[in-house]
Amino acid sequence: MNTIILIASFSFMEFLAWFAHKYVMHTFGWSLHRDHHFKEPDQTFELNDLYFLIFAAPGISFLFFGYHNGSYDPLFWVGAGISLYGMAYVFVHDIFIHQRLKILTRTQNTYLLAMRKAHKIHHKHLQKEHGECFGFLWVPPKYLKEAHLKKRS
Ligand SMILES: [Zn+2]
Ligand SMILES: [Zn+2]
Ligand SMILES: [Zn+2]
Repeated sequence: MNTIILIASFSFMEFLAWFAHKYVMHTFGWSLHRDHHFKEPDQTFELNDLYFLIFAAPGISFLFFGYHNGSYDPLFWVGAGISLYGMAYVFVHDIFIHQRLKILTRTQNTYLLAMRKAHKIHHKHLQKEHGECFGFLWVPPKYLKEAHLKKRS
């Protein structure tokens, strides 16, 4: 049961990340997200990083209150799902896609290549309007197909 809660909250976070990216970060929350689309070459931290703290808070609260009730408490596993998603997000989006640390630069993995391509498409739009590919771990099938075909050729 706890595994199901963990997977469900992890998956729900993908939906929430997509929703927040599209309807918060690219609308009234643009002032914090803007520098993620217009990064200066020598810039280490982004205002956009604050979103990570905002999203981390509920995960940590769930973990805290769940743990307080004992490690089998469902709240604990909701918190674990949210927090794991947060870690995956930083690892994949910031470290892998944007290369804030130089790792996996030459990957040939179809899924990773497709995900990176989809996110680069998102970054092609420098303004808050007309965005596309707001999702993250969920890669639109057309990019998977493209990456797969490219690899074979
Ligand atoms: Zn964006
Ligand atoms: Zn990005
Ligand atoms: Zn955009």
